Amino acid sequence: MHIVEEHLKLRHECSTCNQMFNLKSSLTNHVRNKHKRLRPRENILCDCCGKSFMNTLSLQRHVASRVERSF
Ligand SMILES: [Zn+2]
Ligand SMILES: [Zn+2]
Repeated sequence: MHIVEEHLKLRHECSTCNQMFNLKSSLTNHVRNKHKRLRPRENILCDCCGKSFMNTLSLQRHVASRVERSF
């Protein structure tokens, strides 16, 4: 059983802060405590111009308006 635990070690990565956890429940707890309501501290950056946005929706709207302008 120890071997299995070794393999499962640090397999769960937080997509928000890249912290690693050995248990999925630990990651879930971490997300709940640190990243409530899917609001990461880091701003989301636009790939094309590097402008930062508070959330994905803002970025999507920015990208959409950008595409409209270029056409
Ligand atoms: Zn995190
Ligand atoms: Zn942009």
